Amino acid sequence: MFTVTIDLGGTTIKIGLLRSGQLIDRQEIMAKSVSGLSVQLLELETIINMMLQSNQVRVNDVLGIGFSFPGLVDSSRNRILSTNQKYDDGPDTDLTEWAMEKWSWPLFVENDARVALLGEWQFGAGKGYNDLVQITLGTGIGSAVVIDGQLLKGKHFQAGNLGGHFIVNHKGTKCTCGNIGCMEAEASTWRLPSLLKEHQGFDKSSLKNETILDFKALFHHSGMGDKVAKDVLDYCLSAWAAGIITMIHAFDPEIIILSGGIMKSSSVILPFLREKVNEQAWTPWGKVKLIKALFPDSASLYGGDYLVRSSLKINQNNKK
Ligand SMILES: [Zn+2]
Repeated sequence: MFTVTIDLGGTTIKIGLLRSGQLIDRQEIMAKSVSGLSVQLLELETIINMMLQSNQVRVNDVLGIGFSFPGLVDSSRNRILSTNQKYDDGPDTDLTEWAMEKWSWPLFVENDARVALLGEWQFGAGKGYNDLVQITLGTGIGSAVVIDGQLLKGKHFQAGNLGGHFIVNHKGTKCTCGNIGCMEAEASTWRLPSLLKEHQGFDKSSLKNETILDFKALFHHSGMGDKVAKDVLDYCLSAWAAGIITMIHAFDPEIIILSGGIMKSSSVILPFLREKVNEQAWTPWGKVKLIKALFPDSASLYGGDYLVRSSLKINQNNKK
């Protein structure tokens, strides 16, 4: 049996078709996250129908849709609760009705960081562990948590999701969430350009000639010895270390999986974070492992498959 999985990102939307937990087809389209969710559904419908056709999959052979959404989600009612500048019509959109009307499939929606964690936990870097935290370093910073083999959700469906909004500098920058000094307001892709420009040496930095001030540029110029790039990179690494140590203290994980575009520079990031965590985190039982995600680009598509199967209570050991 098959599942269709959709990962609604801020810049791209990924659509996957899986057979028995194996990704057999995937498509990617540009997201129009500012225009809203309802305008994307038409396009998604076309792509899903094309994928079914080109893979010769019948509508009746699909178990359902696993849908990952970048916002707070009530997964017991399959409703989007709150958004932050992406797909702001989400709370008014009935996704289950859409999937039922178009294909008569059940649809299960969950927060995107949680779905990515499900994918890494069941199929990737988190396999075999029961207590884990996943952090996605990107435009913003996402997080999700599994404790004792259970996805942490909380009364209002936000437990574990707001790791990017843990305070790492209480006198810091105003965040898009309303808080001050959140980890993502101090060190994320959206914050990086202003962080660089606020550095008093920026005018003399080699970064000044870059048209895009992202982490790729930051790591490159830091590697070339640019002082501003080095200072700002040090600041970001320290901010991430502070956030990660707080997450360890909050959630008691055995491992932390790090994902997201910024982790392309994991050879710089991981040794720094491991050293800080080993030095500073209070874990008398041992050391928390920091691991790079195995499927940084497709964990959500695998996680969506698990979401559908676990919601339908289909035994993972006896995949149809
Ligand atoms: Zn925040």
